Amino acid sequence: MDHYNPVSVAIAGGGIGGLCLAIGLLQYSHLNISIYEAAREFKGIGAGLALGPNAQRALACISSFAAGAFRRHATANTSADATREHIVGKAQPAATPVFSGIVAYRGLIPMNKARAKLGELADDAYMWCGGGGMAPTGVVTSSNEKLMEDFEGWSEVPTKILEMTEEPSLWAMLDHLPAPYYNTGKTAMMGDAAHATTPFQGAGCGQAIEDALVLATLFRYAKYPEHIAPALAAYDAVKRPRSQKVVETSREAMELYGFTDASVNGDAERWKDIWTQRMKWIWEIDLAQHCYDALGLLTKNIRVQEIESESPQSVGVGLDMFRVWSSGKAVLLGCK
Ligand SMILES: Cc1cc2nc3c(=O)[nH]c(=O)nc-3n(C[C@H](O)[C@H](O)[C@H](O)COP(=O)(O)OP(=O)(O)OC[C@H]3O[C@@H](n4cnc5c(N)ncnc54)[C@H](O)[C@@H]3O)c2cc1C
Repeated sequence: MDHYNPVSVAIAGGGIGGLCLAIGLLQYSHLNISIYEAAREFKGIGAGLALGPNAQRALACISSFAAGAFRRHATANTSADATREHIVGKAQPAATPVFSGIVAYRGLIPMNKARAKLGELADDAYMWCGGGGMAPTGVVTSSNEKLMEDFEGWSEVPTKILEMTEEPSLWAMLDHLPAPYYNTGKTAMMGDAAHATTPFQGAGCGQAIEDALVLATLFRYAKYPEHIAPALAAYDAVKRPRSQKVVETSREAMELYGFTDASVNGDAERWKDIWTQRMKWIWEIDLAQHCYDALGLLTKNIRVQEIESESPQSVGVGLDMFRVWSSGKAVLLGCK
């Protein structure tokens, strides 16, 4: 019998971050979850989302059903900056997004049209790089004179993609200066609101999903209102350095995409090596350790008996990730 009064959690924004968090939190009977979404409807606007290995594992940890749905369907979404200035304050320079100096064309291509023109390339994710730009397939770029002019001289496949793209729009790429904290009291920001990044490492969504995993892991133990602030502080301590490093390294990555980086100097093989090396720390994160670190910080601040009384059972969300034993010590058992 559950002896806790439900703790209410309001999630502002039903993007991938908010939805993943909601899915994670819905597994706990001690929480009442509400999502508030400003948009009247969800629609694709032309961003191909590649989920890196870390993002796919984090999603599977939150929900194998959601991970399965991702594998079956392509998705597209928008970016937003909902709660940031409420957390860090309007006067803080990090409250406002900053222009990266780079713009992107965005648009959609109907799949039947793409398959007819591109064959099997239409069903996979590729990135055409070089010439100071890049053209991802899947959902992005193209279709008007200016667009064709900007990408003049590109090879056959990207040119076909550009020609087919319907109603392209031009978007400035912005990111955030590092926020000094992601939490204040019982409120915290996650996903793009916390660490909007340029898309050059394809890692923004992955960070939002990782945020959701860490928060959902911590909120398993937020059984009283006074546990919320320590849980959010633990989330901030673990997720802020990593997600801000993603924002910082993403800025540099455009130079690589555009083959304008001095270390690549137009050499495709060299590019491949550098790219694989630079993505390792993002893709190969030990998610169990990451959640374990957050939980360790939480147990310093809330009554350890809360966790001790759980005697051995899995922690985290939907995964046999690690277990907490009756001594109150978390023991890593390995992560899927
Ligand atoms: C061109 C482009 C390509 C990208 N490619 C990739 C990629 O390949 N891989 C990757 O991992 N990431 C990629 N990203 C980044 C990725 O799209 C974002 O990091 C991710 O969508 C962020 O999710 P989110 O839930 O934090 O925010 P969002 O998806 O922006 O969702 C926020 C939601 O909050 C709602 N909202 C805003 N304000 C309020 C309010 N006050 N009240 C209620 N609701 C509100 C909005 O309507 C929105 O639905 C790309 C981004 C761009 C622009």
